[in-house]
Amino acid sequence: MQYPEPIAKLIDSYMRLPGVGNKTATRLAFFTIDMDQESVDGFADALIAAKKDLHYCSICGNITDVDPCEIDRDPTRDQSTVLVVEQVKDVMSIDRMNEYHGLYHVLHGVLSPSEGKGPEDLNIESLIKRLQTNDAIKEVIIATNATPEGEGTAMYLARLIKPAGIKVTRLAYGLAVGSDIEYADEMTLLKAVEGRTEI
Ligand SMILES: [Zn+2]
Repeated sequence: MQYPEPIAKLIDSYMRLPGVGNKTATRLAFFTIDMDQESVDGFADALIAAKKDLHYCSICGNITDVDPCEIDRDPTRDQSTVLVVEQVKDVMSIDRMNEYHGLYHVLHGVLSPSEGKGPEDLNIESLIKRLQTNDAIKEVIIATNATPEGEGTAMYLARLIKPAGIKVTRLAYGLAVGSDIEYADEMTLLKAVEGRTEI
């Protein structure tokens, strides 16, 4: 027998999530059906609001419900340093340490010739514009992951930014080669920021 269509649709929806196969999706679908109406409504509202109310900050590319984002609107942050990361999640990882108090810039990926991903596919143009129009920025810390693509992107950005007389540094890798910032523990990240070196 086949599942009634609403259940089949729900299973199908859960299966679009990363790492969720048919078995887990089926379990989640039946769990959802057993939830009370209020909880299901709240769940659905949260899903819709997250997509509708969030967008990328026009300055830094971080995810936000107000533009510019909270970090860019905070005058107590060190306006002289911009830390460049691959993903929004990396901003959270680094800011959680409460050790870095400067600004961020999110690339939304890395250069990857094999996947046909060039500079125009990343949030690089707005970084350059930002550096050109904001004299307060004295240092750009490149915190892309320690993967070949992350390294290549760091070198590309350094070549692009250095002629403007802005100091370009790279996180000290204490972070193991091939590792993602997202999974690094706080101590490792802290050391990486402290021991950054000029490139
Ligand atoms: Zn921002």
